[in-house]
Amino acid sequence: MMHLTPQGDTYIDTILAYKEKGKALAHFNVSNLDQARAICEVAQELDQPVIIGVSEGEREYMGVTMVRKVIDELNQEYAVPIFLNADHTYSLPKVMEAIEAGYDSVIVDGAKLPYEENVALVKAAVDAVRLYEEKTGKRVLVEAELGYIGQSSSLNATLPEGVSEANLTTVEQAKDFVIRTGIDMFAPAIGNVHGMLTDAPEPKLHIDRLQEIRKVIDVPMVLHGASGNTDEDLKAAIDAGITIVHINTEIRKAFRDGEMEFLAEHPNEVAPYKFGKEGQEKMKEVVRAKMKLYMQ
Ligand SMILES: [Zn+2]
Repeated sequence: MMHLTPQGDTYIDTILAYKEKGKALAHFNVSNLDQARAICEVAQELDQPVIIGVSEGEREYMGVTMVRKVIDELNQEYAVPIFLNADHTYSLPKVMEAIEAGYDSVIVDGAKLPYEENVALVKAAVDAVRLYEEKTGKRVLVEAELGYIGQSSSLNATLPEGVSEANLTTVEQAKDFVIRTGIDMFAPAIGNVHGMLTDAPEPKLHIDRLQEIRKVIDVPMVLHGASGNTDEDLKAAIDAGITIVHINTEIRKAFRDGEMEFLAEHPNEVAPYKFGKEGQEKMKEVVRAKMKLYMQ
């Protein structure tokens, strides 16, 4: 397996190296240290850098600055780079809170807003982050999403309201959006959906739309809501220009299932490190399979 990131390379260099090779970096969300460790262990086993993401809810639960400290410690402990992303962030104050806490990147999510308001929010965030960069000399990446794909990393019976073919990102808007906002990374809606469907297969990804978008924008592209998509679809999306793939629901479910199975067999077990371990093992299987797929 190739290794594109000697220790010490920057985040953007790592992303651009993957883009150049037509491979994808893995982005996984966490809600606790058990999950963060499970991800780091697999990343090290496969000798690949990895991005750990925390949504507003996840970082509120763990502590915005505490997450940064934990990832710093994990970077000391593991021999692969671990980058920290402030996932879906809905307001400028929350963007700045994450940036000032030292996160490596932030996703400004105005996808639910009317187009012009989305552009305005993202542009304001990019401007604020560029000022922060000038002051500190630190490079911070800003990503934004266009086209609504639902908000929650959960199990759902049906598609979230507002998600439809009509809301796929158009080529014209993708180009306009990237130019006007000045973002570093772009997340299109191409049939991907946050969360996982319980009673139906995931919608197929519109690879043709992705290919058309790739032709008009040059920034790295990110696929959100990849839980539940088939390996074939994910591979096709990476081949068509996706450089980062987000998975949350699928690893949440694996982690929960591992704990539940163990507790069903050991109903009197109360030690979190024992049932947490089983959650980690189940989750690592998913993390490993995804990371191997992205590198194929
Ligand atoms: Zn997402």
